[in-house]
Amino acid sequence: MNATFPCYSCKKDIRNPYFCFERRVECISAGIHNEKRVLQQNIQECEILLLYCCNSCWESYQDNIADILCLHQTFPSSGLYTPCSRCGDPVNRMQPHISYVISKMEFNGSDQISGKCLDEDHFAILCKFCEPNENRKTDASSVPLRERLAEIA
Ligand SMILES: [Zn+2]
Ligand SMILES: [Zn+2]
Repeated sequence: MNATFPCYSCKKDIRNPYFCFERRVECISAGIHNEKRVLQQNIQECEILLLYCCNSCWESYQDNIADILCLHQTFPSSGLYTPCSRCGDPVNRMQPHISYVISKMEFNGSDQISGKCLDEDHFAILCKFCEPNENRKTDASSVPLRERLAEIA
């Protein structure tokens, strides 16, 4: 690995494994595999918002991120219908929707911040009224998270 990337919290260069806070447009499709129903996650867009070197650096920011995104609930359950983390209305996850995800990653050795996902947790799932897929600029909550975090730091 040639390039280095600082942790948003402690500013040290991140190493393996690292944590990646992402905003995604995703949907789930249900299929049948070996006569069992399997759910497949389709990620249509993924934007890396923040990087953390370790779990404790990430945890130190969780409450601030939840405040900025106006979340009433974090780490929603993983069913096909999940209450919106902001307003509580059911989100049909088979339709494209916005989710915020914390992923535990391992570098693949390139200069890009990309790698293999070791583990991931949905931090928030939002309904289309709270955060539409399009018209992102008209939504107050979509002010870039890094700037909002810098303001309160
Ligand atoms: Zn750190
Ligand atoms: Zn909502």
